[in-house]
Amino acid sequence: MVKKKFKEMENRLFNRVFICMKCNSKIKADEKKIKIGKIKCRKCGSKRLRKKHKERISK
Ligand SMILES: [Zn+2]
Repeated sequence: MVKKKFKEMENRLFNRVFICMKCNSKIKADEKKIKIGKIKCRKCGSKRLRKKHKERISK
């Protein structure tokens, strides 16, 4: 139960982190704002942002 909750929290956290496709810097913002183009990269001013994907752990 606790594990599940933690995962939900994690997902929420990742859903709000975006990566600039130009300079790879992290931008924290709401997805809504990204979609309407309100969020720009602070470093290079690019509006091309992508969602941060969780890194897969390979074994
Ligand atoms: Zn950038």
